[in-house]
Amino acid sequence: MRQRLTTPDLATFRRLFLRPQSVAFLPAIFLAAFWFGGEAALIVTTVLFPAAVYALASDNAGSRAAANKDGLTGLPLRPAVLEALDRILDMRDTNGRTTACLMVEIENIGALSASYGAETTDKLQQIAARRIGDTMREHDVVAKLDGTRFAIALAPVRRADLETLIQLSSRIQAALAEPYSIDSAKIYASASIGFCTPTRAPAQSGAAYLDAAEAALLDASHNGPGSIRAYSADRIHRPLEHSFDPDEVAMALENGHIVPWFQPQVSTDTGEVTGMEALARWEHPENGVIAPAKFLPMLEELGLLERLGEVIRFHALSALQSWDKNGMRIKSVSVNFTATELANPKLVEKLSWELDRFELSPDRLEIEVLENVIAATDDDIIPRNIRALKAIGCRIDLDDYGTGHASIANIRRFSVDRIKIDRSYITRCDIDREQQDMLAAILTMAERLELETLAEGVETLGEHAMLAQLGCGYVQGFSVSRPLREAHVQDWVAQHLKKIEDAPRIGRRAG
Ligand code: C2E
Ligand code: CA
Ligand code: CA
Repeated sequence: MRQRLTTPDLATFRRLFLRPQSVAFLPAIFLAAFWFGGEAALIVTTVLFPAAVYALASDNAGSRAAANKDGLTGLPLRPAVLEALDRILDMRDTNGRTTACLMVEIENIGALSASYGAETTDKLQQIAARRIGDTMREHDVVAKLDGTRFAIALAPVRRADLETLIQLSSRIQAALAEPYSIDSAKIYASASIGFCTPTRAPAQSGAAYLDAAEAALLDASHNGPGSIRAYSADRIHRPLEHSFDPDEVAMALENGHIVPWFQPQVSTDTGEVTGMEALARWEHPENGVIAPAKFLPMLEELGLLERLGEVIRFHALSALQSWDKNGMRIKSVSVNFTATELANPKLVEKLSWELDRFELSPDRLEIEVLENVIAATDDDIIPRNIRALKAIGCRIDLDDYGTGHASIANIRRFSVDRIKIDRSYITRCDIDREQQDMLAAILTMAERLELETLAEGVETLGEHAMLAQLGCGYVQGFSVSRPLREAHVQDWVAQHLKKIEDAPRIGRRAG
């Protein structure tokens, strides 16, 4: 039986014949053909030799192309995005067109793989790759990176501003959030996205855009699942998270090591503290204070998010009760709710009981619902629960507004009281005209819909003053205070009151 020419044999052949030096052997090959086979052999060799070289060469090009593609999704790899970005940026002075770079990561693939197997998550990635491709325009370049990441270079465009990129990212997220039907299972996945726009890019090169999009993605992933972040040079990028033993996290929750810290919310009109957002912190005996991004995913995998909610509310409501007793006049506490908690049919009953237990009326509790939860919900239970909570008197805040693409109809359907404008719109709003325009548009819409507004992540006094001037009702962020331990809240409030008494114009709306 004849042995097939194996791939290494072919490779050896190519190495031998597709080199410039091989031209030196051509006369010998043709002479040998004439010597052994006569004229006929010479003619056949003359015709077939170029065809053979051509076939080998094109096969070689084919395998080179295959090496430049991802084996799973068939997408090109990182160099394709770098090359596209560089090409467009080189031309931008000539044709006035620019680009932007996005990086998308499908989250929680480890957990999905543990539940459904690696073959299923491979299929999920293939479907995800197609969905991203379908969301983009024909000439945008989509590449597959390591892990579950994808990078995108936008084909030349006139505008690649923050608003356009947020909208595009929301469309990609929505496409990836659709259920994946694989081998009779229905699987849900989420994605975080980081992007880099031309005005914020650290340098005008493909590598700089890609690195910046990656830094923004890291920032988005730290902010919880399903986040979108724009690159900004002054953002602090935290190191990659440490992963904890699941038992350790579960124990910490039960042993009272996970507690809320409180971040003040103040009125831009009067400077008064109107509320406190409860933000979970793990006070680790050895590793110090740990941020929620590092342990929430683990609690989610363990199915303990509802338990976390109970723990946080217990502390938050008891803190509010003691602030009342100390005469601090803080109107409310805000608590973050996940979609799972909001889908609990017993939620209203449970919260009413918890409020009663601390003798607090329901208007003392602000329910924070993420914008992407209300944008993505198509069942009835979450809107029904939220309307019922509103009916008993709780207040509804729409968190991370501007990142989740909720329609105005949905904002109405969920009886939202206040929108919390995401930090990506606030950063540099005092010096960045584009940010101001976006904020003005959001604030006008909110006013028309009679919604209150709170700006989150207000880091500087300049941003604070600009927000007051634009008519945003409340601010929260490092410029007011970082989240505080419960034990420090009372002192901080006392100092803050003194500050607004001493300088009555601080925090007041201009004019
Ligand atoms: P979030 O609800 O959007 O909370 C705001 C986050 O921004 C907090 O991060 C807060 O510390 C941070 N922050 C506040 N002001 C500034 C600022 O001026 N600049 C910057 N750069 N950041 C600021 P944190 O505490 O790490 O929480 C991250 C996310 O984790 C929260 O985002 C929320 O989605 C989630 N989370 C926190 N606590 C809970 C909880 O008890 N339950 C649930 N379900 N989620 C929680
Ligand atoms: Ca929140
Ligand atoms: Ca938020």
